[in-house]
Amino acid sequence: MSEIVYFNDQYVPLEEANLGIKTHAFLYGTSLFEGIRGYWLPEEKSISIFRLKEHYQRILANSRIFMMTPKDTLDDLIEQTMEVIRRNAPKQDVYIRMTLYKTGVNIGPFLDKVETTHTIWTHPLGNYVNIDGLHVTVSSWRRVDDNAIPPCAKTGGSYMNTAVMITDAKRQGFDELISLTQDGHVSEGSAMNVFMVRKGKLVTPAITENILEGVTRDCILTLAKNELGLEVEERQVNRTELYRADELFFTGTAAQVAPITKIDTRPVGTGQVGEVTAALQKIYFDVVKNKNPRYSDWCTLVPV
Ligand code: PMP
Repeated sequence: MSEIVYFNDQYVPLEEANLGIKTHAFLYGTSLFEGIRGYWLPEEKSISIFRLKEHYQRILANSRIFMMTPKDTLDDLIEQTMEVIRRNAPKQDVYIRMTLYKTGVNIGPFLDKVETTHTIWTHPLGNYVNIDGLHVTVSSWRRVDDNAIPPCAKTGGSYMNTAVMITDAKRQGFDELISLTQDGHVSEGSAMNVFMVRKGKLVTPAITENILEGVTRDCILTLAKNELGLEVEERQVNRTELYRADELFFTGTAAQVAPITKIDTRPVGTGQVGEVTAALQKIYFDVVKNKNPRYSDWCTLVPV
């Protein structure tokens, strides 16, 4: 059976969903996207799509920056995503990619002269990164700036910044990287937000630090306060705080909650996965699999 994707307002087999070589988004990187996870729940015979609404609220808000507002509503996008899941009926964890893009032909990167459309597809996805302990480096590249290519949005073109950072980090033997802002403060990972535990508090860079305002970041801030009673701080973070932290971890839809146990060859804290990180990871996995009734409104269950 062919994989079904949403393309040009229709559900079609993947082989029929093709773009021309003059497509604006291909020429200029004029796309915005969301990465969403669907967790397979064998007992419920359902896919639990995690925080579907919040992902689409983020892209709809960001679409205004780039004059890319889709003609479809939040409810339409939610229904189309559920329908793609229903039609493919996956029996494993999946990644869902929604891409909003400029589709017309125009010689010039004007945002207001070409049409916007979107596509939705799914792909099997287990762990994106190791969730037992990563070795990261602080990248020598800098994160794109809010006044250049705003990192608050997942714009297709801005992932060239990510691409050079992650490729170099991997080729140097690291698992991941942490980027700094233009003025040298901690920003985020390649496709994840970063947290540290210092002096009993949970700290993460503020949204003014050229980060993506992660959906998982929001979950972890909420869960840390509600479930562990932790004090949380969103603020500017110095690079040296990373080397002095008791615990470090990443959060992201693909990365989930991924402990960092080594940074630039130095052990983080004891060099083992920290207590707070392990507790948050466990709580997070229960929540995404709809095993914690307090957060069941974060899960959209689609019977398959
Ligand atoms: N930062 C960047 C650059 C990302 O691409 C992602 C992945 N979407 C994140 C952070 C984490 O965001 P979220 O928790 O919404 O997936």
